[in-house]
Amino acid sequence: MAEGMVVTRCDVAVIGGGPAGIAAAVAAAEAGRRVLLVDEGPRPGGQIWRHREGEAPAAAVPWLARLHRCGAELRTSTAIVDVEVARVEQASGEHVSGKHASEEHASGGRASSAPIRLLAEGQGGAERIEAGAVVLATGAREHFLPFPGWTLPGVVGVGGAQALLKSGTSFSGRRVVLAGSGPLLLPVSAALARTGASIQVVAEQAPARRVGAFAAGLWREPRRLLEAARYRLAAGTGPYRAGSWVLRARGRDRVEEVDVTVRGRTRTISCDLLCTGFGLVPNLTLARLLGCALVDGAVQVDELQRTSVDGVWCAGEATGIGGMEAALAEGFVAGAAAAGRPELAASFMRARDRARRFARRLRDTFALRPELKALADEATTICRCEDVACGALRPEWSGRQAKLYTRIGMGPCQARVCGPAVHFLYGWTLESGRTPVTVATVGALTGEADHE
Ligand SMILES: Cc1cc2nc3c(=O)[nH]c(=O)nc-3n(C[C@H](O)[C@H](O)[C@H](O)COP(=O)(O)OP(=O)(O)OC[C@H]3O[C@@H](n4cnc5c(N)ncnc54)[C@H](O)[C@@H]3O)c2cc1C
Repeated sequence: MAEGMVVTRCDVAVIGGGPAGIAAAVAAAEAGRRVLLVDEGPRPGGQIWRHREGEAPAAAVPWLARLHRCGAELRTSTAIVDVEVARVEQASGEHVSGKHASEEHASGGRASSAPIRLLAEGQGGAERIEAGAVVLATGAREHFLPFPGWTLPGVVGVGGAQALLKSGTSFSGRRVVLAGSGPLLLPVSAALARTGASIQVVAEQAPARRVGAFAAGLWREPRRLLEAARYRLAAGTGPYRAGSWVLRARGRDRVEEVDVTVRGRTRTISCDLLCTGFGLVPNLTLARLLGCALVDGAVQVDELQRTSVDGVWCAGEATGIGGMEAALAEGFVAGAAAAGRPELAASFMRARDRARRFARRLRDTFALRPELKALADEATTICRCEDVACGALRPEWSGRQAKLYTRIGMGPCQARVCGPAVHFLYGWTLESGRTPVTVATVGALTGEADHE
């Protein structure tokens, strides 16, 4: 990491300004620590509380007010592009400076309580952050699966459509099919219908029996039951079909129709927009770089949200897809613990454990069915960055072989899209945690940036 650039020191650096990061920053700052919250977005809120200036959703308002009151410093429109542990105690007791944490772990080193260095790049240029503790709250992204036609214009992510709506895009008059899995399908279909889109069908791949059992169990969670009912009863949300999934999308210049399977039969539906997404996957790049242990595709944490790396805590979707309530509770626990005051988070621990139980039921209900592995044909693109088709891959390969032979996952998105897909299809892990984490200027990386 480059020397000679602006350095900001803090007790706790929180990476990610969604519900988990906001709660972590609040807890640590209210405990009297110097806190810096960094987020790529233009304002705190993350995915669920993404909003335009002055239009924060009701649930976010008290947390955002508390964040602004607590004294935490904010860096928005700023990405953490590299991480480094400043000092590492190796087995010999020798201290080593300036190696990437992942290298240190590979060499058997263990991070000490010395500062962790982060390289941030934002509108104000590059900045080095030295933090006594780091809370990773980097959230999740959508899980896409390849099927014929999924790269046609007019095929978008369910969350992508939601983000477009929140930024003011109108889908009024468009005929929309939503096909994929998970609870996100419902609020997005309701939001699209509210703004004048015509919902043709909401196709949920999970079997009707499982979805029914899940819905029946919601009486234990009255708030969530009301929420689900509100989305389902919203005017114009179209038929919801469980046990139904997309087979292919067709169109000349853009999507014109999709085939979905409904109760074993194929139905062709004309549409202008297909929103697809098969749940969420945690964002793990920074955790990988720091050398945090992973379990079941998420960061492994203990009761206090501590990761396997000293000085690094993790909260929210990066520890496993758990929803907003789990993110808030985990964030508060992580922030209080990183500040050295875990007792402040006692009530949040109970809320977290409850939210985690709910998250496990969600995961079991919306587990992906094996039939989805057969959607793509030989010609279906799987890696858009490197233009790799499914037919170029051999299931008997390892992920490393696939990368070497085809360059899959080695383009600009660094396997963020195809990585989860090939993990589901072939069990490969393509994502490696390479720096810079996102696109960064050479100046930021060398410390010679001139951002005027
Ligand atoms: C596309 C999408 C749409 C969703 N919509 C809904 C919904 O409508 N309803 C619902 O209940 N749940 C929704 N969810 C789930 C919801 O996001 C989570 O339950 C909740 O927001 C998790 O909070 P979090 O703080 O863990 O993560 P997030 O809210 O995802 O926040 C993570 C933050 O980390 C930041 N970040 C990541 N990497 C870096 C980096 N290197 N440098 C700086 N900042 C970084 C991101 O910019 C982001 O703001 C959605 C999830 C996704 C991915």
